[in-house]
Parts: sequence; C-alpha cells; structure tokens
Amino acid sequence: MHELGIALEIHRTCREAMAPHPGARIERVTVAVGELTAVEPDLLESAWEAAVAGSPDEGSEIRILWRPARQYCAGCRADKPRAEGSWLRLCPDCGMPLAVEGGEELDVLELAFIEPDGEDTDG
Ligand SMILES: [Zn+2]
Repeated sequence: MHELGIALEIHRTCREAMAPHPGARIERVTVAVGELTAVEPDLLESAWEAAVAGSPDEGSEIRILWRPARQYCAGCRADKPRAEGSWLRLCPDCGMPLAVEGGEELDVLELAFIEPDGEDTDG
C-alpha cells in the first residue's frame, strides 16, 4: 500500500516545519487528498498511525479533507454533476467534451503541534 510512503512523507514535512520548535510534538495534521491521487482516506489514517508509532508524535491525529475531481464544461462554463466513481466524456447539456479539474491535491494544509511546555500552537 502506497499510503504508508505518503504518511511517512507527510510526517517528514511536518517535522521539517517544526524544526524551529525542538521538543514539540504533533497534535493534529490536516491534509487535503484529491480523488485522483488513488489514496484511500481510511488506509491513510491507518498508515499515519503506523508512521508515527514509536516517535514523539505517536497518538497524533490526521484529518483528511476529501477533494473530489470536477467535470467542467467550457461550453456551459459550469461544473457538471456526476455520479460517484463515474465519468462523463461529453456534456449532457451541450455535447462539448468535459475537462477534469482538481482532484490531484495531496497537501498538508494545517499543522497543530504542542510545545514542550505544553502550550498549544496552531500554525
Ligand atoms: Zn455543456
């Protein structure tokens, strides 16, 4: 499962961001996961637990914000709704080919960590 590699990468990114705060530990990390990344949110949660196990960040929380891909029609200048997991090639209203927008996000949006003195920090 490639989620473990992603979780380790997220952890590394968080640790880099916390470098100016020695002794701090992660409280919660918020990530955006796009539909087209082939990342399963449930698996990423489990992978996060595994990635931080045995580190000072063990027990921290990962919050996953799901970012679906959108189908955009240039003819109608509008997003077109679609059923979960299915794609339309052509706009049902005007027949133009639809473009896929978004869904490729895999970003750390927010990192909350706890300073060694116990003070909560957002940012
Ligand atoms: Zn259209």
